[in-house]
Amino acid sequence: RAKSEARGAFRFFEPEMDARIQARRLLEQDLREALVAEAFELNYQPIYDLASDRICGFEALLRWNHPARGRVSPAEFIPVAEEIGLIVPLGEWVLRRACAEASRWPDGIKVAVNVSAVQFTSASLVTAVRDALRGSGLPGRRLELEITESVLVANPGATTAILHSLKGLGVRVSMDDFGTGYSSLSYLRSFPFDKIKIDQSFVRDLGAPNGTDFIVRAVIGLGDSLGMTTTAEGVETEEQLATLRAEGCDEVQGYLFSRPVPVEDVPAVIRRWNGAIHRAIA
Ligand code: C2E
Ligand code: MG
Ligand code: MG
Ligand code: MG
Repeated sequence: RAKSEARGAFRFFEPEMDARIQARRLLEQDLREALVAEAFELNYQPIYDLASDRICGFEALLRWNHPARGRVSPAEFIPVAEEIGLIVPLGEWVLRRACAEASRWPDGIKVAVNVSAVQFTSASLVTAVRDALRGSGLPGRRLELEITESVLVANPGATTAILHSLKGLGVRVSMDDFGTGYSSLSYLRSFPFDKIKIDQSFVRDLGAPNGTDFIVRAVIGLGDSLGMTTTAEGVETEEQLATLRAEGCDEVQGYLFSRPVPVEDVPAVIRRWNGAIHRAIA
């Protein structure tokens, strides 16, 4: 009887599972088509330098405008693109587009590009970066690549070699979402990162009872002693900003300054914050 019940249960879940697999296949197919049709675009979020009180760069964030579903979040489609191997061509498209768009911005303004772990250790990354720089004329010093801790855990040996090749191109490399992954502190010593991005989960709970102030302070101190820039992500309130300033954080990024904007709006964002009469905040 148990056996037939189990079979019954299996039949019961079957259509639901079918629907999930079907939805997933559709997403995969749509992603492949979107890359060909160039249905992606980049939005840009300013990164604000606290020492000079000016915008020093923008982070490129991928957007997919799906014909039927509207905007699909990168948190949903990047993992799928990684699994089906589409992340390499998609990531190369992001690199080319970000470098081309940033090459038209004022010289002091950098662009930061997210690179997935799969793409980072692919054989073609360094070539893709070199080609994107050459094709756009963007100097390497104006490009930053953001990688997460998962890259280091997956393949520490290859990572060191790739980081050094990228440095040879003048490109800077940031550790994104710091503190959320599985890597150990010793990774920071062994890998030549230029910047640590403090994850927004730590910024969100600044000033809260049992808050994360001590973690943020420790990471800023770590960055200082390793000669790395610290950037806080997800800054939404004046209070968070004031705390980060007081703790000596170098750069901040978040909705308090601006949401990610389409490329056409980048000049207006720069004018707003870096113009002659910019509003100094906090
Ligand atoms: P991330 O690199 O850590 O990017 C920061 C995310 O936080 C972005 O979400 C951004 O829109 C959001 N954000 C910025 N300021 C605030 C704030 O003040 N409050 C809150 N609550 N959120 C804020 P988004 O654009 O949805 O991207 C999510 C993630 O998807 C990124 O996290 C990154 O890991 C990945 N991603 C985005 N674009 C690309 C890409 O071109 N390539 C790869 N490989 N990954 C990408
Ligand atoms: Mg990032
Ligand atoms: Mg991040
Ligand atoms: Mg994040």
